[in-house]
Amino acid sequence: MQSNKTDTTSCCVIKVRGLHKNFGSREVLRGINLDVRAGDILSVMGPSGSGKSTLLYCMAGILAADKGEVFFNGKNLAHYSANSLIALRKTSFGFIFQFGELISELPVRDNIALPLLLRGVRKKQAYKTADEWASLVGVQNVISALPHTLSGGEMQRTAIARAMAINPEVIFADEPTGSLDSVNAKKVMELFVWLASKYRKTVIIVTHSEEVAVYADRHILLKDGLIESSVTRTSP
Ligand code: ADP
Ligand code: MG
Repeated sequence: MQSNKTDTTSCCVIKVRGLHKNFGSREVLRGINLDVRAGDILSVMGPSGSGKSTLLYCMAGILAADKGEVFFNGKNLAHYSANSLIALRKTSFGFIFQFGELISELPVRDNIALPLLLRGVRKKQAYKTADEWASLVGVQNVISALPHTLSGGEMQRTAIARAMAINPEVIFADEPTGSLDSVNAKKVMELFVWLASKYRKTVIIVTHSEEVAVYADRHILLKDGLIESSVTRTSP
């Protein structure tokens, strides 16, 4: 069934209205409107340089809009103080990047536990949660290994465990499968699908790959700073 998403839908965890973002004289985003429903997987596609990462970072409050608004659960990100925006990112948003961005000096368990430790969670609880997530994503057998000894798939699954350890509402993933072969990319995408359905996480994925995008509930295609098309997957 095709779903209709209106501006006033309360189920939207993120709403973007008339978002503009410039870098110098370059207008990268030129009026983006978007509703992201809770529990959906949204894929953001488009040519290199089309502003996919910029849109992701604006939605996550890492970059500020030049014009327009981004709302998280109805609250305008522009109304957060710098500190509360940092707190929001630490508690409600999980981030996954193309190369995992793990801390090279720390073993898998500590990488996963780190965001919890930084939030003041006691060591014992942080490591317990890290172990649980390591098992859930399938890296429990490399829990003591350093990142450089991991496969690309293990690195990304560790990054997903680290993002999930804080129990975020939204996961922002920028080309999370960009450095993986198709078998590992499939495993990572299946993990996102499972997280979205079992834990009702909202997942926003920037990707180049049509194969990756098929796992999404909704796809948007960016072109020339605007959403050229938006397609919602129809239920079987
Ligand atoms: P995509 O992720 O679709 O490849 P980006 O959002 O990374 O595209 O970048 C869009 C455009 O904005 C590119 O032309 C890029 O060079 C430019 N850009 C991105 N970030 C910055 C920045 N911090 N400073 C200046 N230009 C930037
Ligand atoms: Mg990018």
